[in-house]
Amino acid sequence: MRLGDFELYVMTAGGWHADGGSFFGVVPRVLWQKERPPDEDNLIRCACVAVVVRHRGRVIVCETGIGTKLDEKLARRYRVWEPDGLLSSLGSLGIRPQEVDVVVTTHLHWDHAGGLTRRRADGGYELTFPRARHVVQREEWDFALAPDPRSRAAYFEEDLLPVADAGLLELVDGEAEVVPGLVVRKTGGHTPGHQLIIFRHSDELSCAVTGDLVAQRPHLRLPWIPAADLDVRRSLEEKEKLLEEASSHRWLLVLGHETEHPAGYLEPGGGWTPEPELDNP
Ligand SMILES: [Zn+2]
Repeated sequence: MRLGDFELYVMTAGGWHADGGSFFGVVPRVLWQKERPPDEDNLIRCACVAVVVRHRGRVIVCETGIGTKLDEKLARRYRVWEPDGLLSSLGSLGIRPQEVDVVVTTHLHWDHAGGLTRRRADGGYELTFPRARHVVQREEWDFALAPDPRSRAAYFEEDLLPVADAGLLELVDGEAEVVPGLVVRKTGGHTPGHQLIIFRHSDELSCAVTGDLVAQRPHLRLPWIPAADLDVRRSLEEKEKLLEEASSHRWLLVLGHETEHPAGYLEPGGGWTPEPELDNP
């Protein structure tokens, strides 16, 4: 769909299965299982939702999913599906990886940054998008390379270091304009440098890519916050602010891990109206 100068496409960059308890934090299972029935292992299907944007001859990729590097044991544990989904979806738009100019991820957890790099035939790693500027919050980058013990399993150096080695890492602090009309806004909360990606044509015509601030539709309720979040009060404040802006200006929201109708509008009563032009990625 068009949003000012931006042509937006929403796609699924594969996904995995998350433990339901951890995904919904303090919300009891009797409540969340009505919204998202888990399988026999208590797992819930999660998508890695990506947004690809054409803007004045440029191609921008927001979020890259898990990618294809995860070893077999982890891929089995997380029940990863369609790990090469992003590149095949780009291919169906006629976009080659070399044509991508800008890559932005909400944060650097493996399910967002895994697609930044891929394995070469000789066993080393290469950038998936070899020409692109890669925009990340400085605080996220620093934490990802020196995470606390609880976060260590969520970051992989091989997703990250090749970006810096190629000289294509662009660190930002707080709010920054990446290209005219495309702003990243640091929220923290889920991770120290988690950010929203906002396409802004006007107050009334904007789109926010939410990452894990609003992972799926049940997370539109304020208290539904993943157990993984490092700073829950921060997540709560930032989510409240985003949802207030989104419902009063009817912003288009793209939810980071939603499997059904990830792009839509929050209605004043809390309902969700999918954007028909972006449905069924
Ligand atoms: Zn995530």
